[in-house]
Amino acid sequence: MTRARDRRRYARAISALASDGPRCPRRRGERVVTFRATGPWTLERVRGMNVKEITRWLREDDDARLDELWREADDVRRRSVGDAVHLRGLIEFSNHCGRLCLYCGLRVENRAIDRYRMSADEVLDCARQAVEFGYGTVVLQSGEDLGTTREWLVDVVRRMKAETPLAVTLSVGERSLDDLRAWRAAGADRYLLRFETSNRTLFERIHPPRDGRPSDRPAMLRQLRDLGYEVGSGVMIGIPGQTYADLARDLEWFAELDLDMIGVGPFLPHPATPLGAAAAPASVVASAPGGRRGTSAGSSATASPAGGRRYGPVVPPTSEDPPPPAATSGQVPNTELMTYKVIALARLLCPLANIPSTTALATVNRAEGRELGLRRGANVVMPNLTPAVYRRQYEIYPAKACISEEADACHHCLTQRIAALGRSVGSGRGDSLNRLRCPAGARIAREATP
Ligand code: SF4
Repeated sequence: MTRARDRRRYARAISALASDGPRCPRRRGERVVTFRATGPWTLERVRGMNVKEITRWLREDDDARLDELWREADDVRRRSVGDAVHLRGLIEFSNHCGRLCLYCGLRVENRAIDRYRMSADEVLDCARQAVEFGYGTVVLQSGEDLGTTREWLVDVVRRMKAETPLAVTLSVGERSLDDLRAWRAAGADRYLLRFETSNRTLFERIHPPRDGRPSDRPAMLRQLRDLGYEVGSGVMIGIPGQTYADLARDLEWFAELDLDMIGVGPFLPHPATPLGAAAAPASVVASAPGGRRGTSAGSSATASPAGGRRYGPVVPPTSEDPPPPAATSGQVPNTELMTYKVIALARLLCPLANIPSTTALATVNRAEGRELGLRRGANVVMPNLTPAVYRRQYEIYPAKACISEEADACHHCLTQRIAALGRSVGSGRGDSLNRLRCPAGARIAREATP
């Protein structure tokens, strides 16, 4: 798939990473870059696959060639992160959101859903259930809900860390540096914030700024890293107006941001949103009480002088008109197949990242979407622990899979599916090997020195 020499280098680098143990490969004389990398470094130089090649794979239709991609991704997955599938228990603790994302069912203007916030005790009950099921991680997810105060979440995280051995991942949108710092000090281990698309113009069209406050998710991802969180991000695939070049740049960002976790899924607009209402055939997927009353969530990429990626000034959209689709030949389809391609390429570009086979995949292919994701590079699934009474109200996109199952049904279903693949359920917290092998912010360019 790449030039033979590049392939050999890539294989050597993967083997080194897979066999080196939890030490920074800097000691092995491999090239190391820092998260705030200085100087030019490109995928072509450090990974053996350039943006042109990524784009070619994204456009690939030949079944035999795609089988080659799936095999390669699965092989790299096995050699870099192993056969274990890690389970992350998802707790959707609030569906309040103050934002207006043009595709999301939780947007503040959607008055058709009942809003909820779970109590701290309810969240803790879900965490205890996670321990009973043998999960090593819980993901606390909500809309961008400022009603979830810093103090409330500090209390929940502290109690969880005191009572359980769980790793705690937060996915609560864009929050202040003080909030992020307080939650990290309380014990939160990881943070998920999708940048959604590297096309800044497109990001701004579909994510109106909140209170005129500009979004700079790459900068926030760097802050999270500096605070000591394991950092996860990801994108939507097939946003109207998203081109193949955009998506190839998204993949490039995954590598440049040196993500510990990468979550991707097809663009699935909720019908009660401007983009859902305007959904054109071209953007249709191919296959497919007691609480406190009251994802989270992208741009022509701009290379910063420091080698990272930054957004420029935000230009608020003037309307909620959906962005026009890209020219037919350039528009990325929001299909299941394209999602598998992105998962597989993400695995090749970021061998040590934790990559989930997402609920969105299970939504577009209930029979085997999750399994195919796991066979094409993914190593994580996220069983839902949210009580069913709330789960139905957490409808970011329509017809979400597993919306009415109770937690134990999700648990048994997923563990059986993993066993049927001949894979094992991971034990322990499933910490990022990317982080474990290179602590203290030193980031690895996965190429042996020529
Ligand atoms: S994508 Fe996230 S921030 Fe945007 S409306 Fe939905 S929950 Fe809120």
